[in-house]
Amino acid sequence: MKIAVAAESDKAEPRVAGTPETVKKLIGLGAEVAVEPGAGLKSGVSDADYQAAGATVSKDAVRDADIVLRVRRPRADEIIDYKQGAIVVALMDPYGNDAALKALANAGVTGFAMELMPRITRAQSMDVLSSQANLAGYRAVIDAAAEYGRALPMMMTPAGTVPAAKAFIMGVGVAGLQAIATARRLGAIVTATDVRPAVKEQVQSLGAKFIAVEDEEFKQAETAGGYAKEMSKDYQAKQAALVAEHIKKQDIVITTALIPGRPAPKLVSAEMVASMRPGSVIVDLAVERGGNVEGAKPGEVVTVDGIKIVGHLNVPGRLAASSSALYAKNLLTFLESLIDKKEKKLAINWDDEIVKGTLLTRDGKVVHPNFQPKA
Ligand code: NAD
Repeated sequence: MKIAVAAESDKAEPRVAGTPETVKKLIGLGAEVAVEPGAGLKSGVSDADYQAAGATVSKDAVRDADIVLRVRRPRADEIIDYKQGAIVVALMDPYGNDAALKALANAGVTGFAMELMPRITRAQSMDVLSSQANLAGYRAVIDAAAEYGRALPMMMTPAGTVPAAKAFIMGVGVAGLQAIATARRLGAIVTATDVRPAVKEQVQSLGAKFIAVEDEEFKQAETAGGYAKEMSKDYQAKQAALVAEHIKKQDIVITTALIPGRPAPKLVSAEMVASMRPGSVIVDLAVERGGNVEGAKPGEVVTVDGIKIVGHLNVPGRLAASSSALYAKNLLTFLESLIDKKEKKLAINWDDEIVKGTLLTRDGKVVHPNFQPKA
């Protein structure tokens, strides 16, 4: 069983899919591990660190690998180097990328999309969306604090008092919860909103105030999978009115709202931005999925009338060492579920919920039911 840790071809991706810790464990499971040169550098891992963990470092690492571990989906010109039938585990970014999925299928690789991991208890330690969103939520507050020209905590000094910053977190999933906790630790006064009722208690238990339109639709807004539904026009209008009133008194706004497979809901309009005072900071964590904030630009910090809108891309990558450590661990746990530990070889149960949920391509076809080519 040969496992390769690929170097990411996308220059904007500093994370890596294997760390010395996971390499050691994979070798313990009976694998030979090869790492592409420089794969871990941007995450603070040198080639020598991988070698010390028992891996070989080679530019041909992926060529004869049975399993290739990656952060991002390989490009079409990269997969031609992969062995027929090789397993590729990565963030495949499957929504709206039919041509790329077709190329993956045509290359004959067995592709697993880690972002499709079912949200069941057994798969919690394989949940890459959670591990990365948690760090993104933390980093969003750090980025906001760095852009904000004032202190966050209240400070009473002989020279005068600095008031505590008011932070508003919109969308309280994994990223939002961590953003609340981080903003609280930094001393901000925190409020938060979401459309899922389950969130209210979580927000309160973190010491923040929950603000939402709590009507009948709100009570039904959570899917069986634990995600949000797209809300009706009527609800959106009520929500916008509430947010408009609240946001003008806020110093920092962090938006994290997502609906799986849909564009991000628009929550902050240009008028709402304009109602904030100069020096305020908005961080749009949903910018890669269309954005929650009008005027947010992917990869840029835009200033509109003195209000900064931060649209960093790949926010988990801004903490590459931490995100790689957790991502690599998610992949390790997933692989453990595919390997027979006694026989020390691959033994995939194709009927397992985790395998079925994440398997994207196999035997030359896109096999996941959600991504079937349209007739
Ligand atoms: P997500 O990234 O899909 O969305 C972020 C948040 O945005 C969600 O809380 C969502 O409700 C909210 N949102 C969507 N539309 C909105 C709108 N119009 N206005 C305001 N907020 C809006 O969500 P996530 O972070 O992946 O987490 C979703 C849920 O799944 C959480 O409750 C989380 O705790 C749960 N979860 C469960 C497991 C598990 O059981 N294995 C693992 C991870 C997360």
